[in-house]
Amino acid sequence: AQAIVSTLKGEPATLLEIDEDEFFEGTGGEEAVDVEVLYSSLNYKDGLALAGRPGVVREWPLVPGIDLVGRVSASRSPRLSAGDLVVLNGDGLGEFRHGGFATRARVRPDALLHLPEAISPWRAAAIGTAGFTAMLAVLALEDARVTPDDGEVLVTGAAGGVGSVAISLLAGRGYRVVASTGRAEEQGGYLEGLGATRVIDRASLGEPGRPLQSQAWAGAIDSVGGAALANILAQTLYGGTVVACGLAASADLPTTVMPFILRSVTLTGANSVEAPLTLRQRAWHDLATELDLEALDGMTTTLGLAETLDAAPRILAGQVRGRTVVDPNR
Ligand code: NAP
Repeated sequence: AQAIVSTLKGEPATLLEIDEDEFFEGTGGEEAVDVEVLYSSLNYKDGLALAGRPGVVREWPLVPGIDLVGRVSASRSPRLSAGDLVVLNGDGLGEFRHGGFATRARVRPDALLHLPEAISPWRAAAIGTAGFTAMLAVLALEDARVTPDDGEVLVTGAAGGVGSVAISLLAGRGYRVVASTGRAEEQGGYLEGLGATRVIDRASLGEPGRPLQSQAWAGAIDSVGGAALANILAQTLYGGTVVACGLAASADLPTTVMPFILRSVTLTGANSVEAPLTLRQRAWHDLATELDLEALDGMTTTLGLAETLDAAPRILAGQVRGRTVVDPNR
C-alpha cells in the first residue's frame, strides 16, 4: 500500500510503500476491520502531524490522517461486512492508531459508522472531522436551547474548516450568523455565500478586554481560544451558550467568573475524538439531512498524498480555506 508515514518523532512525515500485513500486524484488536481507503481529509491537527510538530502523533511509525472514508474489505466485527461503506473520525486515528493517509487501513470498529446513504464517500471526507465537530457544536447549542429567535450566533475561525461548516449548518437552521475572520477582505464574500449575515474582523476580539462587555451573542462556536474566547464570554447575552471547540490562537482562557455569575453564561465544549457511537450517529444523521452539499462542494479542494505533504505548512499558517479532501489513489 501507499502511505504517508511519520517515522520519527520531530521529523516531517514521508510518502512510502508499505507491506500492509507486516505494517498493520496487531492493529485494530480482535474485531479489526480492513478498509480500502477511498478518501481522507486534511485538518489542522494533520498539518501538525505531517510537519513533525509535537502534540498529535504519539507513536512511531504511524500513518497520520484523523479521518477515513472507505469500503470494508474484510471484517472480524459482527456489525460490519465486506463491501460496507464506512466513515471514521478521530478515535485516536493519526495520533496513536494508524490513520487515513494511505490506500489501505486496519481499524478497530468502536467508532466506525456506516456511511449515510445521502452522502457520497468524497463528500463524507469533505465533511471530515471539521464538519463533524461543527455539527457537534451546533448540537451543543441545540441541547442548550439556543434558538434562532434568541439573537445572533458568532462563529470564529470562520474561513477555516470547522468555521465554514458551522456557518452553513447554523444558517440552514435559521440562525443569524456573524462570522469572525482575519481574512475579511478576501473571504467576506465566501462567508456570506455560506450564509453569514455579517462578517467581523477577528482583530476586534483579539486583545484582552473588560470582564463584562456589551451583550451581543445568543451563542457562539469558537475555534480560536485565548483572548477571543474570553471576549466572547464577556459579550454573550444573559443565559447564552458558548461552545469551545478549538485553539487556533491559544489554549489559554484568560477570563473571569463574571460572565458566569452575573449573566448565567454557559461555556461548553465539543470533542470529536472521543465522541460515543450514539452521538456520532446523531451528528452524521443530521449532517446527512441538513448540510447544504453544494455549499460543501464549493468550499472543498482535493489533493493526492504527495500534494497533502506540501499543503501541511499552509494549513498551519492559516492559509487554507474551507476543507481539503485527500485522495490516496490519485
Ligand atoms: P483550520 O481549517 O486551519 O481553521 C482555523 C481557522 O482559525 C483559520 O482558518 C483562521 O480563520 C483561524 N485562525 C488561525 N490562526 C489564528 C490565530 N492565530 N488567531 C485567530 N484565529 C486564527 O482548522 P480547523 O480544522 O477548522 O480546526 C480549527 C480548530 O479547531 C483547531 O484548533 C483544531 O485543533 C480544533 N479542532 C477541534 C476539534 C475537537 O474535537 N474539538 C475537532 C477539529 C478541530 P480565519 O482566517 O477565518 O480568521
